[in-house]
Amino acid sequence: MIVDVAPLLRGEVNRLEIDYTLSPTELDGVSFDSDARVSGAITDNAGYMRLVLRAELSYHGECARCLAPVDGVFSLDFERTVVTEGTLTEERLEELEDEYVVLDDGKLDVDEALREELLLGFPMRLLCSEDCLGLCPKCGKPKKDGACGCSDREIDPRLAVLKNFFVDDSETENN
Ligand SMILES: [Zn+2]
Ligand SMILES: [Zn+2]
Repeated sequence: MIVDVAPLLRGEVNRLEIDYTLSPTELDGVSFDSDARVSGAITDNAGYMRLVLRAELSYHGECARCLAPVDGVFSLDFERTVVTEGTLTEERLEELEDEYVVLDDGKLDVDEALREELLLGFPMRLLCSEDCLGLCPKCGKPKKDGACGCSDREIDPRLAVLKNFFVDDSETENN
């Protein structure tokens, strides 16, 4: 979205509301049901202009461990100081690109910066839950669905000793 900041620059208003939808950048393995909802404002406080936005994006993906579908809403807060062209040198802007946005002829195009932030901020690995146990390495059944019946004795040699201990123990009990 391109916001015409001219009324703010001329001092006619001290706040411009922003409310629109933004098509998110494609992400591997994740789909978006709808565009991101972006809302916020540009405010002017005695010549100090501030852009404050919140973007909310619904997504569908799958758990990185057990491949179960994962749906959610990712929200991102985006804040920048707004400056007119020439306020900062090119070098300064490059250093501070996370802090400033620059007007172009009194207009502000927030989409590109916002898309990049959404991409950077989006979780790299979606999980159905923080403690997801993943899949059984033998049969591929999600472990959260309960015991699949596979023997996992030889899966982790470090645990093998412990497993044998428990097996021996139960056999003793049965006798
Ligand atoms: Zn999972
Ligand atoms: Zn299994």
